[in-house]
Amino acid sequence: MANFKTHIGWGAVIGVTMIVLALLYSFISGWVEIFMIFGAILVGSFLPDMDMDDGVPFQILFGFLSIGVAGSIFYQLYSDGQRDVLTLFLITGAIFIGLRFVVGEIFMRFTDHRGIWHSIPAAIFMGLVSMQIMRRISPSENDEWCVYVGIAIMIGYLGHLILDEIYASVNLSGHSLLPKRSLGSALKIYSRSKIATGIVYGGIVYLLFS
Ligand SMILES: [Zn+2]
Repeated sequence: MANFKTHIGWGAVIGVTMIVLALLYSFISGWVEIFMIFGAILVGSFLPDMDMDDGVPFQILFGFLSIGVAGSIFYQLYSDGQRDVLTLFLITGAIFIGLRFVVGEIFMRFTDHRGIWHSIPAAIFMGLVSMQIMRRISPSENDEWCVYVGIAIMIGYLGHLILDEIYASVNLSGHSLLPKRSLGSALKIYSRSKIATGIVYGGIVYLLFS
């Protein structure tokens, strides 16, 4: 399978291609939009490997998630008038540790590498989740824009799955062209775990109708 660097490299290639196409067809125009779409495709292109316990994508995702949530709780408490240093640090510290290590550990236990996160429904699910996050944090009322970012995440994500398949079917070091055993394990529509598959499909339905 392809490694982190390869995924980021191909993510950048897909990102540039998509931006050129989007500019040609006048979907986007400004620099901010170009950077956002490019960034979303890059994020999408490493996101599936977050199921590799202790891998770089897992560290990035859970690192940012726990710092982001703990930081916003700190800000909320501070602007509500909380000035006790010990309380501020204890609460935000506990939230950070809880997310990074407790929730992170649970996530690791329940995800198999190349399980449900390496599947087409997971790409759709993460695209829809990104649309919802964008709707919450985006200052503008431009809904179309949130949809574009969600689609960019989905494109990066699918690019990752296709790249994993290519690496599984061809041994790029040139020794053998026999398919590896991991062939067909990235571009699938369900995983061995019925519960994980059910949660992702349930999530898609919920996000589509919420
Ligand atoms: Zn992968």
